Amino acid sequence: MSNTATAMPVLEERHSGFNHGYRMKCECGGTSYISAADYHAEQTVDALMPCDHCDRTIHFGPAVAALRDQDDPALDNARINRLAWYHTSASHDWPSMTYSSERREQLLAGARRLHLPADRVNYYVERELSLALHVGTYEAAIENMLRRMRDQDDAASQFYLHRVSLTVDPVRVDGGCRDENDESAAKLATIDLRTAGLDAVRYLNVHECAGSLSLAVLPETINGVQTIGLPVASLAPAHPASLLNLLDRVQRRLDDLRATAPDTLGHRAAPAPHDAAWRCT
Ligand SMILES: [Zn+2]
Repeated sequence: MSNTATAMPVLEERHSGFNHGYRMKCECGGTSYISAADYHAEQTVDALMPCDHCDRTIHFGPAVAALRDQDDPALDNARINRLAWYHTSASHDWPSMTYSSERREQLLAGARRLHLPADRVNYYVERELSLALHVGTYEAAIENMLRRMRDQDDAASQFYLHRVSLTVDPVRVDGGCRDENDESAAKLATIDLRTAGLDAVRYLNVHECAGSLSLAVLPETINGVQTIGLPVASLAPAHPASLLNLLDRVQRRLDDLRATAPDTLGHRAAPAPHDAAWRCT
């Protein structure tokens, strides 16, 4: 793991795991719970569930996903800076200082393929380059990576998990949370936040880790980042050379002993057919 900050503060973790259930909205205004097992078993059948509050049937899915936890700590502006936030990307040094120039070339090539008018190319490129940064729960970050691997030709990409510390001004965070279904939270540009006088906008995820909260933030609110490559090959440190040398010497000594006294080390030669061990008694 690498640190881009001199020191990361102690951060509060809130891992919920991947076997969580979901809450779905009904037209009556209530929300009802569906387990992860039922959600995934039924979503390709009829995607219907009963409402806990009225006689209606809910057609569940991202369009009606609701906040999973009414007491989600991320709802408290004063706690945002104390929480560990996560992001996955194919960039080791996210948010990279060179990202903008590299991404600009990709966007210009895309604009050329789309035959966009010249006056729209600049707007399109500048808008894409100024998108706010997004952080969320550990589970949302991992699910985002898996979606990219499945849907965006990133199946073979090297991904990195970034653990993020924020320094937002609590009074410069939008109240409540926006809904990915209703507002373009995923496409918020930094100019949108600056114009509104905000450091961060909180929004409800409905596609990844549905029902959890993510933040769109200004780049300068990122206080520190810890990064680790995925998948994690090993968390155990490599053995020191002195230990490897010692083990090598011990192994050589054992080999010598086996060669000179095989019977005492469990390497007894197979008995000949006339030996007692082969006789039936
Ligand atoms: Zn209802």
